[in-house]
Amino acid sequence: MPRRKKMKIEEAKAGGERPRGQLKYPRLRGMKDILFDEYKYWDLVYKKATELARVYGFKRIETPILERLELYERATGKSTDIVSKEMYSFVDKNGEKVALRPEATPGLVRTYIEHGMLNLPQPVKMFWLGPVFRHDKPQAGRYRQFNQFDLEIFGDATPIADVILILVAYNFFRELQIAVQIQINSIGCKECREQYIEKLLNFYKERGKRAKLCYDCKKRLVKNPLRLLDCKEEVCIKLREDAPQIVDSLCDSCRDHFIKVLEYLDELEIPYNLNPYLVRGLDYYNRTVFEVWPVEEDGEKSRENRAQSALGGGGRYDNLMEYMGGRETPACGFGLGIERTVLLIREKNIPLKKDDEDYIFIAQLGEQARRKAMNLFEEMRRSGFKVRQLFTKDSLKAQLEEADRVGAKYSLILGQKELMDGTILLRDMESGIQEVIDYKKINADMEKRLSEKNKQTKNGENSV
Ligand SMILES: [Zn+2]
Ligand SMILES: [Zn+2]
Repeated sequence: MPRRKKMKIEEAKAGGERPRGQLKYPRLRGMKDILFDEYKYWDLVYKKATELARVYGFKRIETPILERLELYERATGKSTDIVSKEMYSFVDKNGEKVALRPEATPGLVRTYIEHGMLNLPQPVKMFWLGPVFRHDKPQAGRYRQFNQFDLEIFGDATPIADVILILVAYNFFRELQIAVQIQINSIGCKECREQYIEKLLNFYKERGKRAKLCYDCKKRLVKNPLRLLDCKEEVCIKLREDAPQIVDSLCDSCRDHFIKVLEYLDELEIPYNLNPYLVRGLDYYNRTVFEVWPVEEDGEKSRENRAQSALGGGGRYDNLMEYMGGRETPACGFGLGIERTVLLIREKNIPLKKDDEDYIFIAQLGEQARRKAMNLFEEMRRSGFKVRQLFTKDSLKAQLEEADRVGAKYSLILGQKELMDGTILLRDMESGIQEVIDYKKINADMEKRLSEKNKQTKNGENSV
């Protein structure tokens, strides 16, 4: 056998990926396929997200992946990295400028306005699960198409709304056995933030400081001074240590709001860190902003690593609705990354709960038996049994291997002899014991056996 061909076969056996150079149509850079083994974790994460969202009164919603480019330019902000550098935007066949959704909130705000949701009982609480697109530099665990779990509360100005979001985010990770800490800050309202920015500018304008700032921060001084605080460059991190903190400049009502949020977090024993440098990269936030950071087990990591490893974040955006042409509506929301969550669960080897469904496998031998077995399969499925099959195979060995693979508790085997006798062969997949039972009594018999088997195997496992 030629060496190359042999190597290819071995590669295929190992289930490894083929080098991209060899592929005629490889997937796009920064994109990802989710294969069978990984999808188990996605199911788990989606289930947890949906369950928690519903418990806290959020209803599911979906919006188009494609929207007008203007929506994001206005809502997310033209000067943000997301819009200015990372968006997948193009002109469609009608000459309309459109963009693939780079984040969830603008589309959800549009939905609220467009469908007159301010006429619904307030607050309106929605959750959303789906893909977003950013033409970012691909890195480990980061993709250009990735998925988010997103929650929004519209029409609620109270600190409790902020707390509910943080609570769902915290519970989500905790119940998936990922230890996290909430990073939290308040960036005030328009009025008190303006005063703070003045203080901040005065601080950075002092002799010598401005000159030391990195190239980007010099631009930020003019465009978006708050973002001086979350610069990742070492020299800027050093400089900000003595910078005035925004919490000291909050107006009375912003301060009250923030203190209430923190009091509730204390009450609920949610671990948080008051982080004066947390400002978030988007234009629309005000008051509470927060991020969820994994708690590192191997000691302190550099700030850069930490910021890159934020699992999700959000905050309040009370002015966005009006800014987008709607009626003034207080709002807050948060989004978290599904890919990063799945990665952490897999890295930590958290065991998945065994699939303990009561599967019954239906096997057949011979053409006639197959026809009858296919009918039996349909009847049992309609009666509510969890049946499985491999009717495309003739070999009984192959069928029983499949039964093992799906974790069937019993197999029902129909051959020529059973067909003549009006019976079926029942095999207990655990013990291998087989017995002949009356074909007419299959349903009653199976029900009885499954309920007895379930009584024997009740145990609690430390898994998710
Ligand atoms: Zn204020
Ligand atoms: Zn900088």
